[in-house]
Amino acid sequence: SNIFFRPIEKINAVIESYPKGLAGFKRYLEIIDTEPDISDKPDAVEVSTLHGDITFQNVFFGYDEDRPVLQNISLKVKAGETIAFVGPSGAGKTTICSLLPRFYDVTGGAITIDGIDIRDMKLESLRKQIGIVQQDVFLFSGTIRENIAYGKLDAKLPEIWEAARRAHLEDLIQNLPEGMDTVIGERGVKLSGGQKQRLAIARMFLKNPPILILDEATSALDTETEAAIQQSLADLSVGRTTLVIAHRLTTIKNADRIMVVNEEGIAEQGRHDELVHAGGIYSRLHQAQYNA
Ligand code: ATP
Repeated sequence: SNIFFRPIEKINAVIESYPKGLAGFKRYLEIIDTEPDISDKPDAVEVSTLHGDITFQNVFFGYDEDRPVLQNISLKVKAGETIAFVGPSGAGKTTICSLLPRFYDVTGGAITIDGIDIRDMKLESLRKQIGIVQQDVFLFSGTIRENIAYGKLDAKLPEIWEAARRAHLEDLIQNLPEGMDTVIGERGVKLSGGQKQRLAIARMFLKNPPILILDEATSALDTETEAAIQQSLADLSVGRTTLVIAHRLTTIKNADRIMVVNEEGIAEQGRHDELVHAGGIYSRLHQAQYNA
């Protein structure tokens, strides 16, 4: 399922998307109603400029007490690495990633960043260190400038242009009648799916978090746009610890490590070529996609 169908109202710092339509909104309300209380410990520490070394140490988690979703998950991600999670729907890829910004707390084990248990960090400061990019981009009615600066509210214009340039939005913006001050959204200029994704990427360049979670698009953009977006995301992930919730194998070939998640947990891990040759689950997924 999508990571943004998660309790998110407290995380303005990371939210980049929003469920669309009434069904999504109802679901959202349901979730914030039932959100387990996640709050700061009295002695929680403020973290800033984390490197992004992540460990999951024997992590257990379930949404309901009687139905475990993650059992004894352990993994280490070095700062700057890109890890892709693949596997069947419902295996827990999104759940693993949503524990990192503490949308939920583990029920057993621990998650650390730079050696610090994330439950010992001030929540807001933790979430400032994590950027989430997902397929449904939340844009509000306002100017392009305001929409990009959503990643960093006090950003100055030159920084906003720089972020736009790095997300390959510069030409588009320059060609709009009012440039950065062009109003987008319901009553303004409508952006295409690919342009919205670029805008989300520009937000992230501006926010500049050491850790990224990419919830990969399942709906296809046209091939050319897709390749361009992939390139922008690859640029964005340089120097950041990146967790990709992957749906298409073509986009994860360059991951430093691929985690194959199934009902049993992390069933396989390695680089693309290693896993293809290992002849296990990943190689069968790979075969199936190529023969599809
Ligand atoms: P997909 O590829 O379909 O996105 P996934 O591997 O990301 O799947 P998760 O979304 O992490 O899987 O779901 C793991 C399990 O947890 C599933 O059984 C799912 O139904 C359940 N689950 C996910 N979100 C919630 C929630 N908010 N409340 C209760 N159960 C949930």
